[in-house]
Amino acid sequence: MAIQRTFSIIKPDATKRNLTGAIIAKFEAAGLRVVAQKRIQLTLAQAQTFYGVHSERPFFGELCDFMISEPIVVQVLEGEDAIAKNREVMGATNPAEAAEGTIRKEFALSIGENSVHGSDAPETAAEEIAFFFSGLELVG
Ligand code: ATP
Ligand code: MG
Repeated sequence: MAIQRTFSIIKPDATKRNLTGAIIAKFEAAGLRVVAQKRIQLTLAQAQTFYGVHSERPFFGELCDFMISEPIVVQVLEGEDAIAKNREVMGATNPAEAAEGTIRKEFALSIGENSVHGSDAPETAAEEIAFFFSGLELVG
């Protein structure tokens, strides 16, 4: 596998509990490098666009309200097989099903307030990076 980039969000439940550094430490320990990062607060329209794929799901409103409730940290992570590796370090969507040592097992509060987002494929990674970062922010 080649070096890849993936898009990551440290979600409101985690920024609120001051877990940004603890979560970054998990990424770095797994060999993922933070190559771009910023702390922002989404508008409702931005959250609805970002999670548009879930617009018909029953939890869509709850998810968007949660994502705008506090600032988030958006990141580009780089490394060998970064997309799959990030998903592995994050753990299952539902923390009750997440493996020991994963971010969601350790930090997530519930299936909704689950501390992190990570892209699920090369196409979504490219789209999500471009949604949040300009070319100038992605040097090197
Ligand atoms: P993400 O896309 O955030 O990385 P994921 O790929 O593991 O998470 P998805 O199925 O894409 O999970 O769901 C997107 C997000 O929607 C989840 O991370 C979670 O915050 C929320 N979500 C998913 N299922 C539920 C549910 N049943 N109830 C409430 N919120 C949910
Ligand atoms: Mg997803």
